[in-house]
Amino acid sequence: MPGIKNDSVQIALVTGASGGIGKAIAKALALSGRFVYLNFNSNRKKANAILKEIISNGGNGTLLQFDVKSKEDSEKAIKKIISEKGKIDILVNNAGIRDDMLMIWMKKENWQSVLDTNLTGFFNVTRLAVKNMLPKRFGRIINISSTSGQTGQAGQVNYSASKAGLIGATKALAREIAKRNITVNAVAPGFIETEMIEGLPLKEITKTIPAGRLGKPEEVAAIVLFLCSKDAGYITGQVIGINGGIL
Ligand code: NAP
Repeated sequence: MPGIKNDSVQIALVTGASGGIGKAIAKALALSGRFVYLNFNSNRKKANAILKEIISNGGNGTLLQFDVKSKEDSEKAIKKIISEKGKIDILVNNAGIRDDMLMIWMKKENWQSVLDTNLTGFFNVTRLAVKNMLPKRFGRIINISSTSGQTGQAGQVNYSASKAGLIGATKALAREIAKRNITVNAVAPGFIETEMIEGLPLKEITKTIPAGRLGKPEEVAAIVLFLCSKDAGYITGQVIGINGGIL
């Protein structure tokens, strides 16, 4: 309930929770007892359906619309969570877009929008959340990177740069706040069955994956769930691939 602070329930924010991977993460966190703020940008209908599914399965949460590209809106959203719940324990920076093309055709706006969403979005959302976690001496931050950020991917100079940047930011922030019992890790999925990979030559791609199949959003959520647990307290600054052996 708004205004009621229950310290024993962990509070989580999942950005991009109206998408395939975000939905699975939000669901996993909520069904394991956390109160989850489900962020979305444009797709209220989908976000609402996901929240309904969570609640009908016994979980708890609420919707929180904001654009991670906006520093003002992101900070307003974090302040709202803190004013309602007094804290934020878990932050999953999952919101992301791709806008693929060869670099020679890429316009500044194709570069900028991907960097603004995937990398600056991390900064906009995380800064105030960390400020809240520090005095409480607890926090779990998980950044959803990508195999493209580890290897580079042709046609994805903008996306690969944003996801590699997220890995650098993860490692640096992990070192800054490790002593306060706040872990910061990156999860780097390969090809996961969501709307984001629609339109890609999936038959050809699957042949290059040692596991011989695409990944499922729930498989990404499972590792995020573990990284949020007490048992994962000594894992920080890491990049955990979930890619069927492609890297
Ligand atoms: P998706 O189904 O397309 O979902 C993307 C999510 O990001 C949606 O909820 C979308 O919200 C949200 N979003 C986009 N721009 C936003 C903004 N400016 N502010 C707030 N939210 C925003 O994609 P997905 O596959 O689940 O991807 C989730 C994350 O995993 C992304 O960071 C992606 O780069 C990463 N990833 C995916 C794969 C894959 O194979 N699928 C592989 C590696 C990494 P609205 O729809 O409400 O606008």
